[in-house]
Amino acid sequence: MLPELPLVDSFGRLHNNLRISVTDRCNIRCFYCMPAEDVQFMDKSELLTFEEIERFVRVAVPLGIDKLRLTGGEPLVRRDLHRLVARLATIPGVKDIGLTTNGIFLADQAKDLHDAGLRRINVSLDALTAESFKKFTRRDGFENVIEGIKAAQRVGFNPVKVNAVSVRGLSETEIVPFGHFARETGVEVRFIEYMPLDADNAWERSKVLFAHEIIETLSASIMPLKPVSDKLAGGHGGPATDFVFEDGIGRIGFIASISQPFCMSCNRIRITADGKMRNCLFSHDETDVRGLLRSEASDDRITAAIRSSVASKKEGHEINTARFIQPDRPMYSIGG
Ligand code: SAM
Ligand code: SF4
Repeated sequence: MLPELPLVDSFGRLHNNLRISVTDRCNIRCFYCMPAEDVQFMDKSELLTFEEIERFVRVAVPLGIDKLRLTGGEPLVRRDLHRLVARLATIPGVKDIGLTTNGIFLADQAKDLHDAGLRRINVSLDALTAESFKKFTRRDGFENVIEGIKAAQRVGFNPVKVNAVSVRGLSETEIVPFGHFARETGVEVRFIEYMPLDADNAWERSKVLFAHEIIETLSASIMPLKPVSDKLAGGHGGPATDFVFEDGIGRIGFIASISQPFCMSCNRIRITADGKMRNCLFSHDETDVRGLLRSEASDDRITAAIRSSVASKKEGHEINTARFIQPDRPMYSIGG
């Protein structure tokens, strides 16, 4: 049998990376993602089952998808997530499975996830005191996240990365503590510029704390940062630009989606918890994969749907233009 043609869009971008949202539910309410109260969550019957997710991945892998990341909502609120990891880890051709979590339930689940075959973990943590944590998350839980990070390191996740959304007016006090945190714990801290995906529609460009400002602060307050070549570091590519402090201790990454958009090297596709395929975080169009999965569509039909979604991918997100329109789905409902 001939190998499938890879997933290349009309701009020549090759897609090998699938982000799978397993739920839209979450145990906290980060202001840049969810509304504070009265969230309308999907009904359980709307969520793709583990069997349906596995089937979708089995169809996508021959097209060149070899890197998976589980996300949400908060993926660790989905019962028995480690069982999904174990199913996905046995699919021939899947090289890498990662998880993005807020870390609150991580201490309890880290070992099961590691045993199931998960190797890469990103914990989202925007601040390093309980008080400032709550300004981002509108809920308690800071100590649980710290315990979760320690547990992840203990059971063997390496590297553990921490994602911190950088917001002007809130994140400035956290920059230097995060620099020391990276140096002391071996965790790689990655600052993500605040993007217009909040349910409250309150994003403004002026609220983004830019990567270059953080680099300047860390370099002036701790010591100069030098860029790390991803290839030299044996990295896995992706949108982050990585730095290390001059003495070689402490890695800091930046996902500068606003100040340095990386759309032209985007290799990602996504599937939402309710089974809609999206070719971009900021897309306004979706492909109903759940409908196909539940109508006993053939693998060929699902393959055609994936190809057609990739083929229609737009050049970039256009956030920095007057043309930009925020998508209807906020981040928790897309899967970050
Ligand atoms: N609940 C998990 C978590 O927080 O890690 C996984 C889902 S969350 C939507 C995935 C990532 O998206 C997190 O690192 C979160 O900080 C980030 N995120 C959410 N809303 C964002 C926004 N408006 N701008 C930038 N990053 C955002
Ligand atoms: Fe929940 Fe993650 Fe959204 Fe925060 S960013 S509200 S933890 S889904």
